Amino acid sequence: PLESSPVNPSHATFDLFVQAQTCKDVKHHFTQLCRQLEIDPKDFGSFYAKLKERLNYWKAKALWTKLDKRASHEDYQQGKACTKNKCLVLGAGPCGLRVAIDLSLLGAQVVLLEKRETFSRNNVLHLWPYTIYDLRELGAKKFYGKFCSGSLDHISIRQLQLILLKVALLLGVEVHTGVEFQGLIEPSGENGWMAKLQPRSHPAAAFQFDVFISAGGGRFVPDGFKHKELRGKLAIGITANFINRHTAAETQVEEISGVARIYNQKFFQELLNETGIDLENIVYYKDDTHYFVMTAKKKSLLKKGVIKQDHNDADQLLAPANVDYEALCSYAYDAADFSTGGRLPDLQFAQNHVGQRDVAMFDFTCMHRAENASLVKERRGKKLLIGLVGDCLVEPFWPLGTGIARGFFAAFDAAWMVRSWGNGVPHLKVLAERESVYQLLSQTTPENTSKKYAAYSIDPRTRYLRVNLSAIQTHQVQHLYDVEKTHPSFKKQKESSLHMRQDSAGGSEELLKWCQKHTAGYKNVNVKDFTRSWRSGLALCALIHHFRPDLIDMSSLDESNCVHNNQLAFSILEKELGIPPVMSPNSLANTDHIDKLTMVLYLTQIQSGFALPKK
Ligand code: FAD
Repeated sequence: PLESSPVNPSHATFDLFVQAQTCKDVKHHFTQLCRQLEIDPKDFGSFYAKLKERLNYWKAKALWTKLDKRASHEDYQQGKACTKNKCLVLGAGPCGLRVAIDLSLLGAQVVLLEKRETFSRNNVLHLWPYTIYDLRELGAKKFYGKFCSGSLDHISIRQLQLILLKVALLLGVEVHTGVEFQGLIEPSGENGWMAKLQPRSHPAAAFQFDVFISAGGGRFVPDGFKHKELRGKLAIGITANFINRHTAAETQVEEISGVARIYNQKFFQELLNETGIDLENIVYYKDDTHYFVMTAKKKSLLKKGVIKQDHNDADQLLAPANVDYEALCSYAYDAADFSTGGRLPDLQFAQNHVGQRDVAMFDFTCMHRAENASLVKERRGKKLLIGLVGDCLVEPFWPLGTGIARGFFAAFDAAWMVRSWGNGVPHLKVLAERESVYQLLSQTTPENTSKKYAAYSIDPRTRYLRVNLSAIQTHQVQHLYDVEKTHPSFKKQKESSLHMRQDSAGGSEELLKWCQKHTAGYKNVNVKDFTRSWRSGLALCALIHHFRPDLIDMSSLDESNCVHNNQLAFSILEKELGIPPVMSPNSLANTDHIDKLTMVLYLTQIQSGFALPKK
């Protein structure tokens, strides 16, 4: 009947929803649409089906075709894989929204919490080809006509959030903004796991869940997870956004997609000579704004008065009181102007969320990475599966633009984990599988991941080229199962862990023996464990030499040149066996940074690589 009425108000509302450009408007038009169509958005199980049935309008139908295609993927088991699961997702950044979409396609009830009320980040994200494909398949172009047209491969963070928010709402995700997550509340009485929220009386505070996904960004890591700090050399990033008026003159200025210093020495030298600005790299994207991100050298920031006082500690160095905002604006302006050859006429800063010129300076010296991607907590017999995705799992280095690519991979991997959980796979197996996949995340590049984007799904095997879902075994993730000590299942856990340890000690012992056998007799090589013995890199080189003496000249290696030896072994193993390195040559050279589990996984891959019949 709605379809036959001559002027159907829901069509107009749907158009407004599709075109809405703020978080508030999206939510407003969505509520209106639900009211007009008389569908309760809380009825998540049948929401999308009802919406499709009642909004049988050609523009909407084009979108349903896309979403139906995605939803019909066999991995979602016709939306039945997780019908019993209730998921709380923290954070409406791109990764929280992306994982929420997949969880709802799996049939779970999904509640998403976001502390901000607005989407205001102008900064621009680089998209790998697969993310462009993925977002197109979710209907990105219908929500945002300019999405990656031509050769564009980027989008502003806020536009990406808007697209994903719209998809999430249409699929029945319950999104709450303006509410802050403050921690988990353990089960008590009849209640299961719940969240402590601000404001306290928020309706979502009554939600009980068995899955919690944190996509809280940056350094937001829930209790129970540990973070590793990867400390590099001092790296100071500056972002700046200028108004894009879309004039013909602006259109003609070319983007700069990552002029690394080493590739264009002349450019950076001229910049330094003419302006006193000294950069490691600079990226320029023309998007909703003219967006620049650059890594600047401390010395030039001090010289130009951007940083007032020198400090060794990066936090002190970049503390707001130590930064001259006016000088920072000039620095960013001059760098932008010079790098575009002065051809962007009338450069004017865009405004940030507090109405100031949109310039910011960030410290990339320490990048954080969670040691684990998953955890199970059990209290009073109630289990909670916890997973991390996005920046709170692995912090990206923005100038390289890895944030969304790896962030979406982690979102799919987390959804795959929840699928196993929903399918009743034992919790230790769920954790072991998730951690096996996580080992590969930091090494993913567009080159070493599958090019068959159309075949990508939440199943990791469709995306990672060499993934072994059982690389890590259940006994190796015991510590990720946190059960209260008084509960009967703790006893059970202890007993079974004892069993498993006994069974599987054989597993790594065998690997150790294999390593010893094939490195025996090499000078300065004495394999006794999975950590210290590998420090100098000679043991890895010896392993390679044992199987392929043509690839390495052992006599040219110096025991004290650890980083070089490690780098050499990593490169050969990657090139010849396709095994991506699992840590940096520096970390392996430093025993404090060697993680036994990682090394076991790496050596297992090497073992099977050499065991393959020679071509
Ligand atoms: P985010 O996008 O950071 O989202 C996390 C969300 O969780 C936020 O919306 C936050 O408000 C919410 N949240 C956090 N804690 C709570 C809580 N307790 N309760 C409720 N909600 C909470 N990447 C680039 O490639 N280039 C850039 O120039 C760039 N600029 C950035 C600028 C800023 C200010 C930030 C924060 C990030 C920037 N990034 C940039 C990183 C990029 O945004 C992320 O890689 C990408 O958005 C994926 O992140 P995410 O979804 O994991 O987290």
